[in-house]
Amino acid sequence: MHQTQKSFEITDKVLEQVNRYTVEPLEAKDIYCFSLTLCDNDIDRDCERFSLSALKELAVMFCGKSGIFDHDPKGMNQTARIFDTAVAKVEGRLTLDGQPYYALTAKAYMVRTAANADLIKEIAGGIKKEVSVSCSVAKQLCSICGADRAKSACAHVKGKRYGEKLCFVTLSEPTDAYEWSFVAVPAQPKAGVTKHYESRREDRNIVTKLKAELGETNRRLSAAAEFVKGEILRLSYFCKPFYTAQEVAAMTEEMDMHRLIELHKQLSKRISRHSRELDEEERSFITQPQQQEENDEYTI
Ligand SMILES: [Zn+2]
Repeated sequence: MHQTQKSFEITDKVLEQVNRYTVEPLEAKDIYCFSLTLCDNDIDRDCERFSLSALKELAVMFCGKSGIFDHDPKGMNQTARIFDTAVAKVEGRLTLDGQPYYALTAKAYMVRTAANADLIKEIAGGIKKEVSVSCSVAKQLCSICGADRAKSACAHVKGKRYGEKLCFVTLSEPTDAYEWSFVAVPAQPKAGVTKHYESRREDRNIVTKLKAELGETNRRLSAAAEFVKGEILRLSYFCKPFYTAQEVAAMTEEMDMHRLIELHKQLSKRISRHSRELDEEERSFITQPQQQEENDEYTI
């Protein structure tokens, strides 16, 4: 798993790499170095995976990025910085869908201080920590239909099986890497890499626009529902048994548009059947005496 961070020897080459990111050159005794896995191409618990090309692009983007240890809110300066990254194939390991497994690993350094001595001990001791990465991606491809869900949604549900195929989303074309962090999760056996990503700004604009449209549609729909409820109340006065306004309100309160329309249809039908019955009663009332008269004539 990804939780184990390994410290390694600080060679001259490592020191040179680190010092590319420092204002003042640091010495080996000043720093603590460790390696970690940032992310991989396996399908994660959100049923998402990074593509191999995304891992390679993220490897470049995460160089020089600072990470925070957010298990300790007091540790304001508990940061580490990535100075080297690599994408490596792990021999003999396959992803959930049987592809060769690749991981994006990073080397990070911390400047030793009195405040982070305990934290360094924890890392050196291999305490389990979850690595969380934050980045933006331009493409989110559905494994079933190939639709780019960053642009428009498809009907498939992540984690659901369609026949033999599992629906998952492949994240590719990263546009930016923001930060990474460690969260201590000693009690969580399945802890691994988590990621937070967001779509490009254009996509966020689409989401904002769609939300506004959805709000407008909802307003129209509730106005229409109020109208239908009024019509139902009007029809209910002609029904047998007669419904009170409170009864109608209680009946229609939780109904969605489909059920409201259905109820409206039923009441209309009931009323037209009732008025037909009334018409027939009326007609038989008018015709009855005539027949009797005729009969009377015959009896005479
Ligand atoms: Zn799909």
